[in-house]
Amino acid sequence: MSDEKKIAAKVEPLRKARPCPECGKPSHREHYPFCSNRCRELDLSRWLSGSYAIPVADDETKADYKDEE
Ligand SMILES: [Zn+2]
Repeated sequence: MSDEKKIAAKVEPLRKARPCPECGKPSHREHYPFCSNRCRELDLSRWLSGSYAIPVADDETKADYKDEE
């Protein structure tokens, strides 16, 4: 009986669940590969601003990234 589950698992996933590149949460299908529109925009804005590299750790920068909504 467990074979049904195995078959379903083979058919279903075109996209594997990946952690969000921004915050590491499981990605959401609608916002793939990010977990949310917020993270996607964060990533995009970072590209646009030309500073994709992660800053050398300052609490000030984290203040802009309100993780919780
Ligand atoms: Zn995220």
